[in-house]
Amino acid sequence: MLFLVFPKAEHKNFAQDKDGRFMCPQCISSYKQKGHLVRHIKYECGVEPQFQCHLCFRKFKHKSNLKAHYLFLHKSSFFFPCLTLQLSVMQDE
Ligand SMILES: [Zn+2]
Ligand SMILES: [Zn+2]
Repeated sequence: MLFLVFPKAEHKNFAQDKDGRFMCPQCISSYKQKGHLVRHIKYECGVEPQFQCHLCFRKFKHKSNLKAHYLFLHKSSFFFPCLTLQLSVMQDE
């Protein structure tokens, strides 16, 4: 599950660039203060449009992952109306 990726971000050691800025492991953002990076990871990074399974609320970064999740875990390609937009996007590929 997604939240298992950063179980205790506060206690995690982040990579630092040559200027000593803490680098986000998920994107190109970097912060002078570790706390800012932690906040970024918690509330900003990965909070951008995500694909969430409405059955088990598991989140996926890529729609193809969610689609596969539906098929393999829930044995269904059925999507609820609220996900119609996502479905239509998926079918465009
Ligand atoms: Zn980030
Ligand atoms: Zn699910």
